[in-house]
Amino acid sequence: MDGMTATTARKVLLAAPRGYCAGVDRAVIAVEKALEQYGAPVYVRKEIVHNKYVVQTLEKKGAIFVDETAEVPENAIVIFSAHGVAPVVHEEAARRNLATIDATCPLVTKVHKEAVRFAGDDYDILLIGHEGHEEVIGTSGEAPEHITLVDGPEDVKNVQVRDESKVVWLSQTTLSVDETMETVDALKERFPKLISPPSDDICYATQNRQTAVKQMGAAADLVIVVGSKNSSNSVRLVEVALGAGARDAHLVDFAAEIDEAWLEGVSTVGVTSGASVPEILVQGVLEWLAERGFGDVEIVTAAEESITFSLPKELRRDLRAEAASLSDGSKG
Ligand code: SF4
Repeated sequence: MDGMTATTARKVLLAAPRGYCAGVDRAVIAVEKALEQYGAPVYVRKEIVHNKYVVQTLEKKGAIFVDETAEVPENAIVIFSAHGVAPVVHEEAARRNLATIDATCPLVTKVHKEAVRFAGDDYDILLIGHEGHEEVIGTSGEAPEHITLVDGPEDVKNVQVRDESKVVWLSQTTLSVDETMETVDALKERFPKLISPPSDDICYATQNRQTAVKQMGAAADLVIVVGSKNSSNSVRLVEVALGAGARDAHLVDFAAEIDEAWLEGVSTVGVTSGASVPEILVQGVLEWLAERGFGDVEIVTAAEESITFSLPKELRRDLRAEAASLSDGSKG
């Protein structure tokens, strides 16, 4: 009887939205379409999105992932990842006659454009973000002499600017909303004339996934976030879950990485996934939990999402040309 009581009390809270955002969806489809259109191999600079499963699946279809453009053979096709690249990367690709497809998320491009505009107006730009992250390297490369990286509230004391009346902050798109606001508050204390970006740099997908995990994390004993260790927005979801009151929270790439011991004394498990995670991996986690008595799933919805982005322009152009030549052929 005791066993039955414990079993019926077990449930899963499943966050919505979770998983793929519009920028990741577009980048992954871009690689798949490029493979269909041009044939394998197609080179991809850096992981197209930060997810092990996605990268391995595309590798099996013929994508070759490289760290630098220099590793791509001359005249080959190279796709730039969703995180964006610095202008020097475009220049190098042009020098080596590479055909490029730029899968940078349009919301990252928006931050690049802000950086270019503020640098053009001779502002010092304080870029809040994580040192070494590909997106930060790409954005900084737009105006290296104007941009200073601020890696969290602790870093604020180290910041130096040329003119305190001409300072703006921008940010990486996948940060913790709350921690970023702490950093901004600390920056404003040091630089009262600091101005804010014209609109949120932390993207809608990051914000919605954090809002959902906050709602669900408060009621969960354990939160499982599906995502890879190098995925900034996934790592943030673990932190936000713990901050919201979850007793325990872990990041896993696959169900097989869940440790049975985490379930000890747990009756409510929260589940979510980062913006680069395919739903199949979440379903695997739900199945794993159902096999252990957590078959009752309640969805916790924080927002509805309907944003989609069109494919990179280079790919659209070639797909259109192909469609036109096929229709000409069929007329002939
Ligand atoms: S997380 Fe946000 S910025 Fe990054 S790819 Fe997705 S929509 Fe774009």
